Amino acid sequence: MIRPGLIFKGLINLIYPLYCQTCGLKLELTNTRYLCESCWNKISKNQPPFCIKCGMVLPGSVEEKPQCGGCSKKDYAFTQAWSTGLYQGILKECIHLLKYNKKVFMAAPLGKLMTDFMNRYLDFGNIDLIIPVPLHPARLREREFNQSALLAEQIGKRFNIPLSLNNLVKTRPTKPQTGLSGKERLANIQLAFKIKNSSLFPEKNVLLVDDVFTTGSTINECSTALLQSGINNIYVLTLARAN
Ligand SMILES: [Zn+2]
Ligand SMILES: [Zn+2]
Repeated sequence: MIRPGLIFKGLINLIYPLYCQTCGLKLELTNTRYLCESCWNKISKNQPPFCIKCGMVLPGSVEEKPQCGGCSKKDYAFTQAWSTGLYQGILKECIHLLKYNKKVFMAAPLGKLMTDFMNRYLDFGNIDLIIPVPLHPARLREREFNQSALLAEQIGKRFNIPLSLNNLVKTRPTKPQTGLSGKERLANIQLAFKIKNSSLFPEKNVLLVDDVFTTGSTINECSTALLQSGINNIYVLTLARAN
């Protein structure tokens, strides 16, 4: 007998044919990654040692409290950040499929990369709330979804942690950060976020979720806004790290 789940997947197949989203290989009906085994295995998955501040992967042998060169000069507003992989190759392609080609079903396997990473490397028992980096309302209307919110939903579902979707908001549109220098990114994003109701966050430990970490300007600006609402700790998880 065919399981109802498979029938449902079969119907879904009519809408999203089960071909590997990056190489086109035909997939088994039971494949929930939308990638073939070979493409999935090519996704770079970050491994320790991580910089204790920004989560950058550090070379092999490091001292007890390892920090990258950048973090010894910079002071981030968040407590600690991690990225699950590198923004390159298949992972970069998958993020583009999700973000620009509106393949929202990719949020499930990409979210799984994040939850697998959390299971392996993070002590997330004290996280009270998950907050995705918001889009400006005009951008949200144009894209129709917030990719960071889709990823955050996957994490919330897997670990049963509530999401806060509407309290951290983006107050002005900014240019896409891609193609800007570090300084331009900072100027572009500075003071672009605010908290609507700061009474909701005091004493909370939150996990801020975004798709890509490039210079850290976006998550740092979000963290600055969040800190003003009396939050205890801001941990950050991004799907991919661009540098
Ligand atoms: Zn493939
Ligand atoms: Zn660092």
